[in-house]
Amino acid sequence: MAKLAINGGSPIRTNLFPAYNTIGDAEKQAALSVLESGNLSQYLGAWTDDFFGGPRVRAFEEQWADALGARHAISINSNTSGLFTAIGAIGIQPGDEVIVSPYSMSASAIAPLVYGGIPVFADIDPVTFCISPESIADRITPRTKAILVVHIFGHPADMDRIMAIAKQHNLMVIEDCAQAPMGKYKGKYVGTIGDLGVFSLNYHKHIHTGEGGVIVTNNDVLADRCQMIRNHAENVVGPRCVENLTNLIGFNYRMTEIECAIGSEQLKKLPALLTQRIENVAYLNELLAKFPALELPEIPHDGSIHTFYVHGIKFNKELAGTSRNSFVNALKAELPSAILRESAPLVGAGYVKPLYLQPIYQQKAAWAFQHPANATAPNYLSGLCPIAEEMHFERLFTNEYMRPGMTKSDMQDVANAIEKIFDNVGELK
Ligand SMILES: *Cc1c(COP(=O)(O)O)cnc(C)c1O
Repeated sequence: MAKLAINGGSPIRTNLFPAYNTIGDAEKQAALSVLESGNLSQYLGAWTDDFFGGPRVRAFEEQWADALGARHAISINSNTSGLFTAIGAIGIQPGDEVIVSPYSMSASAIAPLVYGGIPVFADIDPVTFCISPESIADRITPRTKAILVVHIFGHPADMDRIMAIAKQHNLMVIEDCAQAPMGKYKGKYVGTIGDLGVFSLNYHKHIHTGEGGVIVTNNDVLADRCQMIRNHAENVVGPRCVENLTNLIGFNYRMTEIECAIGSEQLKKLPALLTQRIENVAYLNELLAKFPALELPEIPHDGSIHTFYVHGIKFNKELAGTSRNSFVNALKAELPSAILRESAPLVGAGYVKPLYLQPIYQQKAAWAFQHPANATAPNYLSGLCPIAEEMHFERLFTNEYMRPGMTKSDMQDVANAIEKIFDNVGELK
């Protein structure tokens, strides 16, 4: 008779795992006080004092800048719009190339196309899953203008080497820190190492405001350009006598007073949430260390902090005696999802398909590809980034069994489920 749940056996656990919910009384009170004030957004898209938003927006930005030790924090209504803004601010135009990572949420790579620039995919490092400095160096052409780094899963990318390449070739560096708020690389907060750092406050991130984001920079000119792109640049460039109008078509990427009031409360909770996450990872790693087929994520040393948005494990199919996909499907059958996220399992095979395989790149279906200045844009052939492809299709699986709120006994269930699968791996043949 079958033992594994995927074959009809009884699962290790059916009652849902705990919710990851960071919203509580403090956020309720913060939102309520904004509602009571009647001032839900003070922004004006014109050159007045309200161009920079109302009191909650400004307080939140100051707190975020202080927390990271950045000169400027610019709230923005998503990380996606933050990346668009950052790409606009550095002046990307048709004919320019931006080196991006294929292994990230889609917004990390698409941003250059909005301004007519071409995303050029470099491969990832097989340990950090972040863009690899060797591959970046390999992709540089006379048209390269910037590198868009993602601290994927919360692991800091190899910033020393990336900044050295940028310096050598006079490139701008944008850090996508959506998954790494308050992560550190060698003692420095990620987002403050490159020219611009962009954070996400969407519902799925460490802390959130429903939707939202923050750009940080130490560069006054870039901060100014970001603020204009966020809020109807065209209306303010005249009164401000701005000379360089490149990309200063404005959007409305503003966060509201309620979101920023909630954001201030969320930011206070971030350090404790991170500590709990890192402690859970240590415990889960301890439980999983006995399985030789699982290669656990590297914990960086020397002042670096991995924020573990997800816990990435490399699967050795030879040692396991089954494929990664069979293993992950078996694990999904043994374990439930979580409260507040009933329809999504806490484990998945790989992360996202390498982005250049998406139809938009395969068909070059964006106006930027038709622009004569981009006639030499590279093709997005399958095999372009072999490490990303191998990790995604064969080796990596990602899980969130270490979210704050998971208890030791919850994580013990995870280890028991994995042990059960390896004990009965013959059933997966
Ligand atoms: C979530 C995420 C984004 C997009 O963030 P939004 O705030 O939803 O726009 C971009 N990049 C990465 C790496 C992400 O994880």
